[in-house]
Amino acid sequence: SIPLGYFGGVGGAARRGILVKGSTFLDTLNAVNTVVFDKTGTLTKGVFKVVKIVAVNGYNETELLQLAAKVESHSNHPIAQSILKAYGGKIDEFEVRDYEEIAGYGIRAKVENRVVIAGSDRLLHTENIAHDNCQLEGTVVHLAVDNIYAGYIVIADELKEDARHAIQALKRMSVERTVMLTGDNQAIASQIAKQLGIDAYEADLLPEEKVNAIEKLLSTAGKHSKVAFVGDGINDAPVIARADVGMAMGGLGSDAAIETADIVIMTDAPSKVAEAIQIARKTRQIVW
Ligand code: ADP
Ligand code: MG
Repeated sequence: SIPLGYFGGVGGAARRGILVKGSTFLDTLNAVNTVVFDKTGTLTKGVFKVVKIVAVNGYNETELLQLAAKVESHSNHPIAQSILKAYGGKIDEFEVRDYEEIAGYGIRAKVENRVVIAGSDRLLHTENIAHDNCQLEGTVVHLAVDNIYAGYIVIADELKEDARHAIQALKRMSVERTVMLTGDNQAIASQIAKQLGIDAYEADLLPEEKVNAIEKLLSTAGKHSKVAFVGDGINDAPVIARADVGMAMGGLGSDAAIETADIVIMTDAPSKVAEAIQIARKTRQIVW
């Protein structure tokens, strides 16, 4: 039989926008000493704005933005949304062929019979496309056409209002480690970790490298301590599945993540993680 207090815990959490998919997850939450956050869409709003366009090799800014918008038109990544919004014009979807999204890297597609790639520094490296080392001034989407570098678009995201509070609350509750994992670049990651007071971070991670990072944290958490991961699920559903407690943002999150997660945060507020742990601790007191 299941103790009554558990129902109170799950029900109480639900009333506060925290969907716990079974009372055993409250037990696990209780033992959490490490909370790991994804960055984009989890600690940040995931709503990027285009702040700068740098076109080279004969392209102008308008052409570069249009090209980027075409290539990104089939993607639901927050980066794609921002570029499409900045472009604003209509896109004929038949112009884009052989579309391929490479998780954690970017996109390759054919536009008017030219092979266009749009994505991270790393994507350019793997494609052997040389480019000037641009100062990392934000999240950067590089573009290349038929293996020739065409320029880059800088986009900026904002922290969620309660992100700092979320980390502080965990510290006050004596959660030992807070960690951020991101596919975004080092400069952005270190800036955000510092702003929020996060203990450790790893940047430039591919989706499978996020899984490795979680495994490392699981192995160092201690025998009786658990690791929670919180993500929006775009590219991080496998990590949500691997953590002791996988949590997904319910509003922004992808369907795969919401299905995989043990706990869904309906309001997308990272501070709900601390609240969930608090509820788990209280529930345990009632049950015992
Ligand atoms: P995060 O770990 O911060 O949530 P992702 O794993 O979703 O980020 O993406 C990591 C990086 O991969 C991005 O910062 C970007 O450089 C590149 N990238 C991913 N998807 C796209 C896309 N649709 N267009 C351009 N770049 C992309
Ligand atoms: Mg994300």
